[in-house]
Amino acid sequence: MTEPTVHVLWLNAGLSCDGDSVALTAATQPSIEEIATSALPGLPPVELHWPLLDYECGPQGGADDFVAWFHRAARGELDPFVLVVEGSVPNEDVKQEGYWTGFGSDPATGQPITVCTWLDRLTPHATAVVGAGTCAAYGGVHAMAGNPTGAMGVPDYLGWDWRSTAGIPIVCVPGCPVHPDSFAETLVHLLHQIAGRAPMIELDDNLRPAWLFGRSVHESCNLAGYYELGRLATGYGRDECLVKVGCWGPAVKCPVPRRGWINGVGGCPSVGGVCVACTMPGFPDQFMPFMDEPGLTVAPATEGLYATLVRTLQSVVLHEAEKEPEWRRRGDALTTGYTA
Ligand code: SF4
Ligand code: SF4
Ligand code: SF4
Repeated sequence: MTEPTVHVLWLNAGLSCDGDSVALTAATQPSIEEIATSALPGLPPVELHWPLLDYECGPQGGADDFVAWFHRAARGELDPFVLVVEGSVPNEDVKQEGYWTGFGSDPATGQPITVCTWLDRLTPHATAVVGAGTCAAYGGVHAMAGNPTGAMGVPDYLGWDWRSTAGIPIVCVPGCPVHPDSFAETLVHLLHQIAGRAPMIELDDNLRPAWLFGRSVHESCNLAGYYELGRLATGYGRDECLVKVGCWGPAVKCPVPRRGWINGVGGCPSVGGVCVACTMPGFPDQFMPFMDEPGLTVAPATEGLYATLVRTLQSVVLHEAEKEPEWRRRGDALTTGYTA
């Protein structure tokens, strides 16, 4: 019997910069080409409907053919399918006129279809829903204090307890942009799971793949030895720990320093850049201004009351950093603090 094809519908029309799509082109372990061609052992047949690599458009291709897959999924004609959302979800209930963001148009009316409408139409039929990048996961930069759109993450829009037709929670792979290999690996897990060859994906309390986001940046940073020795840089371009020049690594969960950015190479503090906490639910508001000392500094060899107090402070910071600002939610009132 032929194995069912799993369609991957990539909706990159949220409030986004397309950075997560661009990032995914750099995945190597595995690559998006290997996923799209089902070249990995055990992967089911895959059809990728993604603006950056849509090999199913065919010779008659064009925007209408591309969007037609989304219409078919909304009518319940595609099964199984994974919906990938890129970008944050605006609150269409708080605007005075027009719309915040849309994708394609309604064949009957010619009017744009908002991203919120697509989510309402597609998610009841989806086998899995994945948020690619911090905007889709938690709101990200578009959901900062003072924004006029009331932007939020996909879980804020659908509800944190939402489940797909297969009983799978929303899967969030945060990062600004998303770490290429982490996203590709998560997608591969879901494809195997949908094919019945992998267990239920394990997620943490913020809906992140637990095996990827279980450790802090600090735990994997190759400058951690300097931190232990109390060798803390006071400027850039030095081969020392960056905590005094703004690195949030001790309070941030992210696999990048451990896995490298592209093909195992690079990774923020490991190559001299401070961690600005771009994977965190509270990003960016809770970590600004960037490049200021974040108050996580302690000489690790220090023992006694002072060290205990500072480490308690670190755990409080980590706890708070795991929360989104309270204005990222649905409703008909704009609570971001925006003033015209
Ligand atoms: Fe762009 Fe970052 Fe938002 Fe992704 S998470 S859409 S890279 S701003
Ligand atoms: Fe930790 Fe940042 Fe220092 Fe690396 S640079 S050891 S992540 S504080
Ligand atoms: Fe973002 Fe920090 Fe991870 Fe770099 S190390 S990707 S800045 S969370």
